[in-house]
Amino acid sequence: MTTAQPLDVQPTPLALLLLGREADPKSERGVECPGDLPSPSDPDLVERARAAKEKLGDKVFVLGHHYQRDEVIQFADVTGDSFKLARDAAAKPEAEYIVFCGVHFMAESADILTTDDQKVVLPDLAAGCSMADMATAEQVAECWDVLTEAGVAEQVVPVSYMNSSADIKAFTGKHGGTICTSSNAKRALDWAFEQGEPGTTKVLFLPDQHLGRNTAVRDMGMSLDDCVLYNPHKPNGGLTVEELRNAKMILWRGHCSVHGRFSLDSVNDVRERIPGVNVLVHPECKHEVVAAADYVGSTEYIINTLDAAPAGSKWAIGTELNLVRRVANAHPDKEVVFLDKTVCFCSTMNRIDLPHLVWTLESLAEGNLVNQIRVDKETESFAKLALERMLALP
Ligand code: SF4
Repeated sequence: MTTAQPLDVQPTPLALLLLGREADPKSERGVECPGDLPSPSDPDLVERARAAKEKLGDKVFVLGHHYQRDEVIQFADVTGDSFKLARDAAAKPEAEYIVFCGVHFMAESADILTTDDQKVVLPDLAAGCSMADMATAEQVAECWDVLTEAGVAEQVVPVSYMNSSADIKAFTGKHGGTICTSSNAKRALDWAFEQGEPGTTKVLFLPDQHLGRNTAVRDMGMSLDDCVLYNPHKPNGGLTVEELRNAKMILWRGHCSVHGRFSLDSVNDVRERIPGVNVLVHPECKHEVVAAADYVGSTEYIINTLDAAPAGSKWAIGTELNLVRRVANAHPDKEVVFLDKTVCFCSTMNRIDLPHLVWTLESLAEGNLVNQIRVDKETESFAKLALERMLALP
């Protein structure tokens, strides 16, 4: 559970107010900035951000997720995926303010991993993640009751993707499970299936069904029939007791709205348009897309693969557009295209723009702590347990 400062509000399972600036007193997302945002057309924005950052000096450390806009990334002290960024922040205890240019669950993870003296700030509180919002604490507690009633809960080890709220990470820690990233999902599942009586363990994979299914089937040789889909909007998850008892992987019905857009048609189209193209996709894509791709891997894997690719090679990449554009710009000697014909940014990641960053840095430079993301102690201790299990994975 988190609290946002200075607004004394609690997170709720309510849908994210994606583009609005309305104030929802029950949600920390979709709220207005409590100050005056500079105008996006202010020609001095870059200079203002630079000046405020300079004034703050070592007191501030700006993290930029790979999917952030260029206008924001230029001010990042470090870039990376969510877990790398949280660890980078923890390795900088002298930085009092951690400005996280990313989304809400990432700022929560940074707060969990940093010291009590470090304050994690999200420049726009409406920057949530639609995937993380698809699994709420209440829904997951209800799911555990369903598993208990079906007589399988004792065999279940939860494995939660990094892209989940602190509440879900805490649930995972409390029930003997681990967190995973898209880079180590196979290692996390291997570890989970080694827990308990050999051959009896089941995994509850939260909240991204695609990463869970792709890892189980593509990397671990399970069949699609070993996986069932738990739908939190249906009674008993839409599953019978028998289905739960027979399953090895119980996949939560969540997905990424960006990676979920790529389809088999996108793959077939690009192969027709660009003969000899290599299709490289993120494992948050649907199973049929992953099955049809040439290469599959995390954001870091995508960057490294392009770095190592020979000049003249052709690539269609299925991940967030800001990253694809940066990778394409970094490799003018290679043909790099977006896998889908229509553009697709992550709309919530894109909420962090230069005006929000300027407002945040100037507020901090004036001594006003804004948009702090804090995870309460109990949630933090169980979430940390799950994160530490991940760090200890072989
Ligand atoms: S790209 Fe997908 S998983 Fe990542 S923040 Fe956006 S909605 Fe969430």
